[in-house]
Amino acid sequence: MSNTANDCIFCKIIANEIPSYTIFEDEIVKAFLDLSQVNPGHVLVIPKKHLPDIYAYNSEYAGQVFARVPVIARAIRDSNPQIKGMNICLNNGKIAYQTVLHSHIHLIPRYSEQDGVL
Ligand code: C5P
Repeated sequence: MSNTANDCIFCKIIANEIPSYTIFEDEIVKAFLDLSQVNPGHVLVIPKKHLPDIYAYNSEYAGQVFARVPVIARAIRDSNPQIKGMNICLNNGKIAYQTVLHSHIHLIPRYSEQDGVL
């Protein structure tokens, strides 16, 4: 598996060829605001390796990527006292509504029961 794919929009975001509002970045992941926010503060966490879906992870890399999710979730929560909860999800495969085939985790703050959901 190569680390990047030429035609992948998220690989271009990782390479800073496409701008993003990045809230966290290290050698393993990049976390940035979703372009079409379901709710304010909707963030995507993406692995820096081009992994099309969850099946492509090995256990070690999955551990590294997913260990960062609660850290980023806490930072989002702490950024706004109006945030009451969070939907955290991964759409895996086109039939499961995955539209960008570089796996990613959605962190969607919830403010009230009337909020949008993915
Ligand atoms: O889970 P799914 O693949 O449907 O989610 C893709 C997400 O990537 C969407 O929420 C979309 O708004 C986001 N996106 C983005 N920036 C892009 C292209 C897609 O934030 N340039």
